[in-house]
Amino acid sequence: MTDDLDTPVLDNHIHLDPRHGRGVDAVEEFVRLGGTHLLVVNKPSWHLGVEPDEPADFRPVFEETIDAVATANEVLPGRAWPVLGVHPGLITRLVDERGFAPAVARDLMCGGLDVASEFVDDDEALALKSGRPHYDVSDAVWDASNAVTRHAFELGADLDCAVQLHTEATEDLTDLAAVAEDAGLDPSRVVKHYAAGRLKGLTPSVMSRKDRLERAAASGEPFIMETDFVDDPEKPGMVLGPKTVPRRVRWLLGNGHDEAVRRAHVETPAAVYGIDTEATVE
Ligand SMILES: [Zn+2]
Repeated sequence: MTDDLDTPVLDNHIHLDPRHGRGVDAVEEFVRLGGTHLLVVNKPSWHLGVEPDEPADFRPVFEETIDAVATANEVLPGRAWPVLGVHPGLITRLVDERGFAPAVARDLMCGGLDVASEFVDDDEALALKSGRPHYDVSDAVWDASNAVTRHAFELGADLDCAVQLHTEATEDLTDLAAVAEDAGLDPSRVVKHYAAGRLKGLTPSVMSRKDRLERAAASGEPFIMETDFVDDPEKPGMVLGPKTVPRRVRWLLGNGHDEAVRRAHVETPAAVYGIDTEATVE
């Protein structure tokens, strides 16, 4: 028995790790509460035991996500899509722990994005993931991270696909909007994951806490919802669980925010990713 919310329900940023975590069980829980669609982001490479030396080393990380999405598609009433990329925190591991020069780390991470873009080009993934550290780093590492992010925008422009970003906590990313524009990618197709209720410059993927969602709903602006569920048994309390987005949709609908639910689960996903969440629900 599932709770039918009478609307598509998309979690824009979730991880699935069938090897270490709950995998499809988490998807079944999402579905039971009324969830219909997922964007599944690959885990950081080091969480899967991969310490890359060359771009091809990212390939198994991406393939694991593609496999998890195929399994999720067997239980979702709508569907799931992979979002593939290189976690910006990797630069710190490469530079501080493995002795890479920032420019060499930059080139390896850009190469990883090139590999991710092949999957988008083959219609095996929907979008790319990039960004910059949310913690203080040296100028060299910051510049290298911005260069990696710009490369993701250039690939997004070439492939006509959206780019999800991990960034510092902020409600103003007009600097990155200008970079996207310059790279030929519409900034509205760049999504800041883990966003607060409002964001200047890019499209916010709002962490599904009530206070943030209320601000997003009231803004009248495009937004999407997410949990950043990590599917890691060692970090159960770190982020919101897989039930959260459907639960918060029910809460929004109960508070008269029908228009905001449509904005977050139909209109913004269509505008950003080119997906039709209504058509894919049977
Ligand atoms: Zn994440």
